Amino acid sequence: MSDIIHLLTDSVANQIAAGEVIQRPASVVKELVENAIDAGATKIQVNIKDAGRTLIQVTDNGKGMSPTDARMAFERHATSKIHEAADLFAIKTMGFRGEALASIASVADVEMKTKSENEEIGTSIHISGSELLNQEAVATATGTTFMVKNLFFNVPARRKFLKTNTTEIRHIMNEIQRVALANPEISFSLYHNDSPIYDLPATNLKKRIVHIFGNSIGNNLVPIDVKTSIINISGFIGDPKMSRKSFGEQFFFVNGRYMKHPFFHKAIMQGYEKIMPRDLVPAYFINFSINPSSIDINIHPTKTEIKFENESAVWQLLQAAVREGLGKFNVIPSIDFDQEGSIDIPMSPKSADGISMPQVKIDPTYNPFEEGKSVSVPSRGFSSNPEKTNAQNWEKLYGESAHDFAFNTKPENEQSSFIEHDANTPVEQGRNLLLLKNKYILTPVKSGLMVIDQRRAHQRILFEQFMVTLTNEEGYCQQLLFPQTIEMNHADAALFETMIPDLNSIGFDIREFGPGTYIINGIPGFIDDSNAKNIIETAFAQYKESAGNIKDETKEKLATSLAIASSIGYGQQLTQEEAGSLIDSLFACHTPNYSPSGKLIIEIIKLEEIEKRLK
Ligand code: ADP
Ligand code: MG
Repeated sequence: MSDIIHLLTDSVANQIAAGEVIQRPASVVKELVENAIDAGATKIQVNIKDAGRTLIQVTDNGKGMSPTDARMAFERHATSKIHEAADLFAIKTMGFRGEALASIASVADVEMKTKSENEEIGTSIHISGSELLNQEAVATATGTTFMVKNLFFNVPARRKFLKTNTTEIRHIMNEIQRVALANPEISFSLYHNDSPIYDLPATNLKKRIVHIFGNSIGNNLVPIDVKTSIINISGFIGDPKMSRKSFGEQFFFVNGRYMKHPFFHKAIMQGYEKIMPRDLVPAYFINFSINPSSIDINIHPTKTEIKFENESAVWQLLQAAVREGLGKFNVIPSIDFDQEGSIDIPMSPKSADGISMPQVKIDPTYNPFEEGKSVSVPSRGFSSNPEKTNAQNWEKLYGESAHDFAFNTKPENEQSSFIEHDANTPVEQGRNLLLLKNKYILTPVKSGLMVIDQRRAHQRILFEQFMVTLTNEEGYCQQLLFPQTIEMNHADAALFETMIPDLNSIGFDIREFGPGTYIINGIPGFIDDSNAKNIIETAFAQYKESAGNIKDETKEKLATSLAIASSIGYGQQLTQEEAGSLIDSLFACHTPNYSPSGKLIIEIIKLEEIEKRLK
């Protein structure tokens, strides 16, 4: 038998390698921009035509290449960045494999112009499908320009699999975002078909974030800065109220390199636990700087996962840093917590008539993450008998401000009647809650006027109750006098049936009554029975809608849906007592600031704001 093994030609080998490195226009952008960074550029310009199908042009003002290097750069395994295997453990550059340019040149038409600082004249090189077409001397500025045309012209299968222009441009934008955030001191621009997408001047990280994501995120950032012998962690995390349901503003960088790290992501999420609804993700921009020998960077070029030697230590440092940052910057609940401590009560309650008011100790080291807040389960219609914890939370959050107001506004002769109420319970008629449009509850607090959305507040309270009953499976069921039936189509019925066990563990009593027909025999004791069918139908619709959410936590989705379906609406008139009770139950919640679907419940109109308006 004759020999059949032979070596592949360079161009075929390069094409095969290219298949791994260069998957789409964004991969070319990434490789060229990273090379520019490695070349010490301070200004990088990217021009794209037709989402990169026609042209990807990257110009830098880096150190450029000599004529020989210019030619060498396109050889496979040609790199200036490492020399021996040991160098792999001290990588400080973005590239080091020496295969990007060879790969790109094997699947596109590439023109490069480059000149190094100490040379008068530059070099121009034209390579297409790995074939050198031309090399000549040209006049050009110090630095390098790549023009990559007709990407995948010789790999039709690849070209065919490119997505729409919108998708490909989005990938390119993502790459630019990553490198731009990792290198705020470098100026970047990205143009598509001659219109600007990014024009980012050299700046610091915070301003770079603003330039890319806008003021709404940029103005709500909490700095993180931790220095240890293992690792330095710096950057910014977002105020929980800017969190979103979908990903897009989450960035980890290690030594200037973007990485994905689901495990560290969890550390951040845990840092936000209890101050943000669980289905939201906060923004974060975190840099790790670490000795390169304690991470494994030798990963596949298109992969972004990086292994850390000391992963669990880093995890703990990160989580602590997040908590500390959030605590220090007082974003939890960022409402009215006077760190300086002095709360002046215009008239001392003791001197008023000897009855002592609740003593409020403002503790500047107050840690809002502390365990032990209990969720009170108010009875139906949130009757007013708040547990003591409610009062404590209320006090913790708002100081004595609620009382301040009562003292300040009540006429002299009414003060005693106010004080006669149980001093441990902040719910008093004297709290003077103003109900606006049967939608908002308004009450003065130390720093201004607190506005509470009644519907969202009730949703939050119900959500936490549902979660407790769902978790403990101890829902108390109240049988309906007149069972109600619901009918569903085939597709809905399949989904609904998966919900029934959980619904029943909360305290519903729902049974199948024939194909697509269900009977509601009972409902949880704490929700209004007049509308059992409506609640189930609304909750089901909500549940269905949330099926595509990023986090597939069935119990939470169910609790959210039920809370939305069974909460009081706008327009529902509350008595003073009910409103007070609602507020107390709200402050007994783990996350009083946000509704289960992530909407703001409480807003404070600051005194300064009012003063400004009345100037
Ligand atoms: P790697 O970046 O892994 O070294 P590349 O194929 O991306 O491999 O680049 C090969 C070499 O070409 C680099 O090591 C570098 O010396 C040189 N080079 C590439 N792009 C530039 C640039 N923009 N400016 C200066 N030198 C460059
Ligand atoms: Mg490279």
